[in-house]
Amino acid sequence: MPEMMKAAVVRDLGAPLVIEERPIPVPGPHQALVKVDYSGVCHTDLHAARGDWPVKPTPPFVPGHEGAGRVVAVGSEVTRVKEGDRMGNAWLATACGTCVDCLRGWETLCTGQQNSGYSVDGSFAEYMLVDARYAPVFPESVDAAGVTAVLCAGVTVYKGLKVADAKPGDWVVVSGIGGLGHMAIQYAKAMGYRVIAVTGSESKRASALEYGAELVVNYRDGDPGEAVHDLVGGAHAALVTAVSESTFPQALSMLRRGGTVSLVGLPPGTFPLSIFDTVLRGLTVRGSIVGTRLDMMEAVDFFARGAVHTKYELRPLDAVNDVFTRMETGTIDGRVVLDMGL
Ligand code: NAD
Ligand code: ZN
Ligand code: ZN
Repeated sequence: MPEMMKAAVVRDLGAPLVIEERPIPVPGPHQALVKVDYSGVCHTDLHAARGDWPVKPTPPFVPGHEGAGRVVAVGSEVTRVKEGDRMGNAWLATACGTCVDCLRGWETLCTGQQNSGYSVDGSFAEYMLVDARYAPVFPESVDAAGVTAVLCAGVTVYKGLKVADAKPGDWVVVSGIGGLGHMAIQYAKAMGYRVIAVTGSESKRASALEYGAELVVNYRDGDPGEAVHDLVGGAHAALVTAVSESTFPQALSMLRRGGTVSLVGLPPGTFPLSIFDTVLRGLTVRGSIVGTRLDMMEAVDFFARGAVHTKYELRPLDAVNDVFTRMETGTIDGRVVLDMGL
């Protein structure tokens, strides 16, 4: 067992990540040490490294919350996994387990939670610590690089769709076709919905159709709300994954009466909400943050059964700053996955 590992570290918010040698951490009683094989790069990692959000992470820290690998050591109290098991990390690193939200199965709302790659070190490293009571496990049969995008993007959109209260056959808008969006189209289809993808980039049209969208609306071609009403009479639900404030009111305008918009994209900022329109049209606006451990099991199961796929490109850990640059311009199709073996 080596003593040192390579990690991509945020030393200062807003500055490029630094590739460093760090000591391999030692698991506490409930923790497992995982040798990371792959880690997906989520836009949240970019928000974290830039300090975009009101609650900022404290440098130095290692981002990454879509890591997958194998357990190499466990703490004294760990019974759920053993050495050699497949395990990952997730945004929800751990929670208190005793507050009202934890007790009612909403550990994602626990105020005592810790978040991987934000308040605790994440998976942009050769090794990571996880809380063995909270971290996702997956079977040998799944593609380890492919499953990484399920661990945040997949579970987040799956949960966001679950709380959008649509029925099979309903029209669901997916706005923003990046890492989350490419999974959202597929989960929505697998859940029985009919998908309208909304993008500002014509190059994403073909991929959106390939992921399972029946219709694609380019918001640059005219008012996208009008377009969705003309095409299908308005959507029953909309899931906003785009990193742009303007897409939030835009998604609301696409809803039919009684519709729900589920917000998962996290650009910093606010958006105007018409009281009159929301009340008279009976609209619901919901925020949705990742998924619980149960949502994660279900989301991984969709992937393991082949009901959803992830589109990814492998890059070495050292390329993380280039990946962030591409992410800023919205030009990544699917996910970039860091391969610790490259
Ligand atoms: P990404 O960079 O892979 O994709 C974002 C996409 O939005 C890009 O394809 C970009 O082209 C598109 N976009 C930008 N402006 C747009 C516009 N005006 N209209 C339509 N599309 C537009 O990012 P990602 O990893 O998919 O993450 C998306 C957002 O979701 C981030 O803000 C991230 O922090 C957030 N997120 C939230 C949760 C949650 O639990 N709520 C979980 C994961 C990520
Ligand atoms: Zn709690
Ligand atoms: Zn994420």
